[in-house]
Amino acid sequence: MTDPAALPTLFLSHGSPMRAVEPGEAGAAWHAIAKTLPRPKGVLMISAHWETGVPMVTGNARPETIHDFGGFPEALYRIRYPAAGAPMLASRVVELLKGKGVAAGIDGCRGLDHGAWVPMLHMYPEHDVPVVQLAVQPDRDTAHHLAMGRALAPLTREGVLVVGSGHVTHNLRDWMAGRNAPAALPYAASFAAWLKDTLAKRDDDALLAYREQGPGAARAHPSEEHFLPIYVAWGAAGPDAVAERVYQGFDGPALVMDAYAFGAPDVVRRAVPEIAH
Ligand code: ZN
Repeated sequence: MTDPAALPTLFLSHGSPMRAVEPGEAGAAWHAIAKTLPRPKGVLMISAHWETGVPMVTGNARPETIHDFGGFPEALYRIRYPAAGAPMLASRVVELLKGKGVAAGIDGCRGLDHGAWVPMLHMYPEHDVPVVQLAVQPDRDTAHHLAMGRALAPLTREGVLVVGSGHVTHNLRDWMAGRNAPAALPYAASFAAWLKDTLAKRDDDALLAYREQGPGAARAHPSEEHFLPIYVAWGAAGPDAVAERVYQGFDGPALVMDAYAFGAPDVVRRAVPEIAH
């Protein structure tokens, strides 16, 4: 079963649910990234939009499409993303987490939220790659999420694409105040630059303490759930991982849309050769 060619892990900034019907540059980038990568046997999606107290994994073989948002055009609510689930992958995720002392369970009912299916819609539009979701735990700290990622690192050698789906910055109040802004607000741009530099230095201590050390972090993330998936993706890429920013962009003044690939240097270089910074 083990595939010797490791996959990188990804962190995507998923944007508004409208990305489903208006993919823009970010959606095109997700599509290009998925086309560049070896085809995975399954995707493990860590979405900001599933919050639990204990790590939970979707075990449903036929996960429904959850429209977990309000006030959007009718067309958005008609979209279905009918990819299969992967109960065996779900069990493997729980096994790996428990093997590192992280209690975890399977939710047999939960479907796919928009943090999962909007990027998947552009990455795998034929919905022919099975997908499993893993929840975030906003009541727990960044170290917990990094530890989950580290526990899941074997998946990158088992043909599973681990994707964190959140945001580099996520302040909806600032976003509502100026959706057509010509640039990201200075604090958002500063935080995004700090993140890129800190990942380049592979400074895990600074990453874990982002709220104290990242410029404008509390305003970039009034709540933490959209940032926590990056720790799982970074951890799952393994101890020798480097970071490559594979898409740079923003939506309005406060949603930085950057995407990253993480992995051993040869894995990242081989996997994303044509994506511009
Ligand atoms: Zn979101």
